[in-house]
Amino acid sequence: MAVSGLPPYDEANIFARILRGDIPCRKVYEDTWALAFHDIAPQAPVHVLVIPKGPYCSFADFSAEASSEEIAGFIRAVGTVARQLGLEPPGYRLLANMGTESGQEVPHFHIHLFAGRPLGRMLPGVG
Ligand code: AMP
Repeated sequence: MAVSGLPPYDEANIFARILRGDIPCRKVYEDTWALAFHDIAPQAPVHVLVIPKGPYCSFADFSAEASSEEIAGFIRAVGTVARQLGLEPPGYRLLANMGTESGQEVPHFHIHLFAGRPLGRMLPGVG
């Protein structure tokens, strides 16, 4: 069991395959630490996924196991993507699912970046 409570990292997961170049993505940004690409089923006018290049299942795994350099590089990459997309202003939302109750589907840590319209309250049905 990985630190996150998820199974060990699955090298066959879809984002690992994108990182290896086995399947294509609509790339937005890439550097040493991160790759960003458009979500295949966008839930907002802008829906970009930012993923670390290392093999981390989840936020829990990444935050516990990645080096400080990887964490800093990844977080800076997320900010760079938002800036390069011209989202500061009008603003954007970051979201990371972690584990079963969150609905995480792909077991490679990723941050969703949503923008392009007013995004409403944080969780459906709340407020
Ligand atoms: P999550 O539920 O947080 O694990 O989100 C996984 C996201 O990956 C979903 O929003 C999917 O639409 C997206 N996704 C799945 N396969 C691909 C793909 N091949 N390229 C881009 N996005 C994908």
